[in-house]
Amino acid sequence: TDPALIRNFCIIAHIDHGKSTLADRMLQMTGVVDDRSMRAQYLDRMDIERERGITIKSQAVRLPFASDDGTTYVLNLIDTPGHVDFTYEVSRSLAACEGCILLVDAAQGIEAQTLANLYLALENDLTIIPVLNKIDLPAAQPEKYAAELAHIIGCDVDDVLKVSAKTGEGVRELLQAAVDRVPHPVGNPDGPARALIFDSVYDAYRGVVTYVRVVDGSLNKRERILMLSTKATHEMLEVGVISPEPLPSDGLGVGEVGYLITGVKDVRQSKVGDTVTLVSRPATEMLGGYKDPRPMVFSGLYPIAGEDYPTLRDALEKLQLNDAAVVWEPETSAALGFGFRCGFLGLLHLEIVRERLEREFGLDLISTAPNVVNRVIMEDGSEHVVTNPSEFPGGKIAEIYEPVVRATVLAPTEYVGTIMELCQNRRGTLLGMDYLSEDRVELRYTLPLAEIVFDFFDQLKSRTRGYASLDYEPTGEQASDLVKVDILLQGETVDAFSAIVHKDKAYAYGVDMTKKLRELIPRQQFEVPIQAAVGARIIARENIRAIRKDVLAKCYGGDITRKRKLLEKQKEGKKRMKMVGRVEVPQEAFIAALSTN
Ligand code: GDP
Ligand code: MG
Repeated sequence: TDPALIRNFCIIAHIDHGKSTLADRMLQMTGVVDDRSMRAQYLDRMDIERERGITIKSQAVRLPFASDDGTTYVLNLIDTPGHVDFTYEVSRSLAACEGCILLVDAAQGIEAQTLANLYLALENDLTIIPVLNKIDLPAAQPEKYAAELAHIIGCDVDDVLKVSAKTGEGVRELLQAAVDRVPHPVGNPDGPARALIFDSVYDAYRGVVTYVRVVDGSLNKRERILMLSTKATHEMLEVGVISPEPLPSDGLGVGEVGYLITGVKDVRQSKVGDTVTLVSRPATEMLGGYKDPRPMVFSGLYPIAGEDYPTLRDALEKLQLNDAAVVWEPETSAALGFGFRCGFLGLLHLEIVRERLEREFGLDLISTAPNVVNRVIMEDGSEHVVTNPSEFPGGKIAEIYEPVVRATVLAPTEYVGTIMELCQNRRGTLLGMDYLSEDRVELRYTLPLAEIVFDFFDQLKSRTRGYASLDYEPTGEQASDLVKVDILLQGETVDAFSAIVHKDKAYAYGVDMTKKLRELIPRQQFEVPIQAAVGARIIARENIRAIRKDVLAKCYGGDITRKRKLLEKQKEGKKRMKMVGRVEVPQEAFIAALSTN
């Protein structure tokens, strides 16, 4: 295709503002999907995406559009994941485009995620088309939010389009605006081939499907390709475009968006952000900077049934074919048995991985409280990178570093006080505050990531009755006064409950956990002290009083079968018990204590 007839664009929107619905309308309106085979959220392929209504992996679809001037253009719509955990993938998708539709719910106005993605789009020099969606809603306030959008982007109010993705109103005009306003791609057709990988997904039948945007030259069937960051080479077995099912073609030229199949089985061989070139005439310069995804949040994953351990290992291996961002290594816990320490991009990523493991592999899992990565410098100068609190080094510590993020909170002005209080409690530093309109404000904070991974978002939502939105990006690390709190049962540390917290919060954590465990652990034949400790110093203590457990006491008379049944029941109960020192703890107690965190 002539690059002059191509328009590459994406849609950025806050969750629920209607991105998937709009994409559906575009598919229908351009005749790519007929009305009969249309199903809601056509492009959201993963089941979890459909159920949770969020887009995890970006997808690209080619739409032929008959423009008002009588010419048929090729519109490539690149879908981006909207969530903060996947910012790197978003930024790669944006890098594959020249334009971007900024979609905002006309009844809600702009939200923090939209704003964060808008900044990314501006950094990538994309042409922004501001669009208000859901104008069919009675609660829509298109005039008010058009003014807000125009103010933020610095455009004219009349440039803001108004659509209803539900009814289709204004969608054709929007496609026409994409043709008119988004610049066509420019590249060197005769130069060495360079294409940007903006997504790669694992397909059980075809292996890894790599989504690319060609910048220079062309990629043709049967040629050997070279991945610039890994130096791996592969033969291209198939090249094509998605419209909306894969459609093989002979090749992809300048500005085109499509897919490659090489028969590779592992997505780590085809990394988002990498540059593809040809072995026969390789490019030397990469497109943009490639970055390895860095896990920010760690958690231990354990099978509830110990015999599921090999299944969990298999499942993690399979999942990694599909999700290059998840990392894991085997780990054993005295309390939970054999499992894996896994690293994730963020909390949502953790939840999604866990849910996929449970759903796709039929596993029942328990995950330990999420923690961040701490860097500990000892007085002798040695350094430890701690991804598991129970591995926190003993000895003389000089400095402890923790990751920090730059967080953006958007909310109605009346909630400024309560948001500031929350951020203060979470050791935040205010960076700045801006009024987006007279009743909405943007607050920028530096916050320790560890303070966000627990319940920050829930707190924020409940304090603002759901009106605040949050976005954050990692910005490095800071030295902090952190300590490790251990929880001991009868003097034995229960590793799964160790946590690294700020010095000022150690006491609260200790009191909270010991109380919780006292309620969850059944009485034993002897007294069991539960303690919280920082080093050798006990900071909180509870006691579980002794009982004499005698199951047969309930049996009067001589009903032998009933007696036997009771004994069997007791034995069965014992199997699911974990021994911590002399103390028998039902696994459920651990699970409950960890999950209510
Ligand atoms: P996404 O999270 O941005 O992909 O949003 P979805 O496309 O999943 O839409 C979120 C919800 O808003 C769904 O219940 C849609 O049916 C609804 N929705 C999307 N567009 C419109 C619209 O134009 N009008 C109305 N009334 N509802 C819409
Ligand atoms: Mg969606």
